[in-house]
Amino acid sequence: MKFRTRAIHVGSDRDAATGAVVPPIHVASTYVQPGAGEWGEFDYGRSGNPTRSRLQETIADLEGGNHALAFASGMAATHCVSMLLNSGEHIVAGADIYGGTYRLLHKIIDRSQIRVTLSSTQDLEQLEQSFTPQTRLLWLESPGNPLLSITDLAACIELAHRHNILVAVDNTFATPVLTRPLELGADIVMHSATKYLGGHSDVIGGALVTRDKALHDRLYFVQNATGAVLGPFDSFLLSRGLKTLELRVREHSRTAQGLAERLAADPRVARVLYPGLPTHPGHELAKRQMDGGFGGMLSFELKGDYQSAKRTAESTHLFQLAVSLGAVESLIEQPASMSHASYDPAARQAHGITDTLIRLSVGLEDVDDLWNDLDQAIGKSVEC
Ligand SMILES: *Cc1c(COP(=O)(O)O)cnc(C)c1O
Repeated sequence: MKFRTRAIHVGSDRDAATGAVVPPIHVASTYVQPGAGEWGEFDYGRSGNPTRSRLQETIADLEGGNHALAFASGMAATHCVSMLLNSGEHIVAGADIYGGTYRLLHKIIDRSQIRVTLSSTQDLEQLEQSFTPQTRLLWLESPGNPLLSITDLAACIELAHRHNILVAVDNTFATPVLTRPLELGADIVMHSATKYLGGHSDVIGGALVTRDKALHDRLYFVQNATGAVLGPFDSFLLSRGLKTLELRVREHSRTAQGLAERLAADPRVARVLYPGLPTHPGHELAKRQMDGGFGGMLSFELKGDYQSAKRTAESTHLFQLAVSLGAVESLIEQPASMSHASYDPAARQAHGITDTLIRLSVGLEDVDDLWNDLDQAIGKSVEC
């Protein structure tokens, strides 16, 4: 079956007791056991919950995996992966990763004497040089955040595997509609389900997906032992969101492409970063790696300074000034002062996150309305 059919039917078969076409939300924290020392399918809500299980079944299927775990947030999912490592071991991550992942790696994980190196994932030679005999995990993200850099996932995965390094891919931006990293050889796919999977800015959640049962069992052990599971109501919201994932992501991509083209033709704009533009350095790769669209995230640099970018981000009406992404409503933000404020300023500049950079999460509003909104906000801030 095709993606959008599976999104609707896998993990949501009708309720056997009542015939309800939408399965019930199971709220029980504990389950009666068949006998002392005997265990049924479920015993305690942290270890397993039927509503969470259904969601996990759907996510695993859509990512082309065999197993999924749902977490209380994307960061909880990322943290779980990091807990596979022991002190003295080493993580390599792409330079263009989510700000919260950067903070987790540099301010929390490193307390356990786990070393972290950021490397370009566009330059395979530099990537290979960053590997040490202690490297256990490579963390990839494509498109990157907030520069929308495109990483050749298959090539990086192959390189890491030659060094016996586990590869996890944060697939939040691309979603399984556009890219399925497990099919490209990745060991683990991570999601901030808060974003496109939920799609409506009303739930915080995360997920890990694997093909390998032994790896899944290790992750499940950490999750059950540390406890950052997703609750049943949030699991239900994510299951509902997934049913329209493909339709939403296709439309987000179409609208973002339209806005990127208009911004690229605008003399007040210095540079547009969108993989769907032929001028983007990763365009050809993205065409191969992304399936029929380039996603709903787009960044651009204004001609002007920090203040003009700040004023533009504060002057839109439809685009709301907020971090996060991936929902029906469009959002705008200035990475230097918002999503990437936790970066050391020198590191931020070094990674190309300039003061005039603006990041858009393109929602599902009409493309002309969105353009008119951006146009008036830029007009208030940039002289031409
Ligand atoms: C939001 C986000 C995260 C973190 O997820 P939370 O659900 O906010 O904990 C990780 N990676 C990417 C790419 C994100 O956008």
